[in-house]
Formats: sequence, structure tokens, C-alpha cells
Amino acid sequence: MSELLTEGRCLCGNVTFTLTGQPARMGQCHCKDCQRATGTGHINNAFFKSEQFNVKGELKSFDTEADSGNVNRRYFCPECGSRIYNEITARPGIVGVHVGCADDNNWFAPDFVVYCSQRPEWDITTDKVPNFDEMPPPPPKK
Ligand SMILES: [Zn+2]
Ligand SMILES: [Zn+2]
Repeated sequence: MSELLTEGRCLCGNVTFTLTGQPARMGQCHCKDCQRATGTGHINNAFFKSEQFNVKGELKSFDTEADSGNVNRRYFCPECGSRIYNEITARPGIVGVHVGCADDNNWFAPDFVVYCSQRPEWDITTDKVPNFDEMPPPPPKK
């Protein structure tokens, strides 16, 4: 059993989760879908294996098609609308947890930024890590 990293919850508290261990990767996405989904300039995702992510409570999901043709399924609390996580249905077993709902998210440090071609000028993300205009090919499986 790996160590508890943090607990988290949605705005209303109906959805709660725990994260254990460390994320495999962390990233920020400026794509227009993420802008619309969040109402902000980018989303912050920490990628965990699904067994590291224990979520409780009722969630709704909404599917969109990514440029890759894969389905991006975004999960949120139907009561308060907080976004909790997403998964690419072609990559089962990996979840992208939206770190804003984590009680402690000081550990977040992006390894990459994607869809920088759609980054609004007013939305500042780091250029100290690889910045991709679009979505780069997925990394080799470990
Ligand atoms: Zn809620
Ligand atoms: Zn995106």
C-alpha cells in the first residue's frame, strides 16, 4: 500500500477522493475544450494509475473527441460542477486528476504544457518545461 499523498473534494463535498503515491506525469493543457470545460485558460492534470485514485460520490461525465480521435471523458460533480478528473478511453487505467480539488496540491509541478498554440496571451504557464503546440505522441509505455 503506498502512502497517502492527499485527500480532495468537490466544492459541495458530495464527491471526495484520495490519492496515494506519486503521479507518473503532470501536465497543463491550453486546448479550447479545456478552456471551455474549466472557464479558465488551462487545466492542470496529474496522471495517476486508477488504483492510486479512490473516488467516492456521484459523478457525471461528458465525452468529447480529442484530435487523436480518442474519447476524452471528463468527470464532474453534478451538484456543484467541480471538475474532478478525466480519462482517455483508449488508455484505460490512467486518470488525469484536476489538482485544484486536491486539499494539498503544492506537490504539483508540470512536466510539460500542451496545446500552447491555443494559449491565451493573458494565461501564463511555465516555459521551463517542454511546450508543445499541440498534443505530442504519447510516451512509450513503462
Ligand atoms: Zn460537488
Ligand atoms: Zn485540453
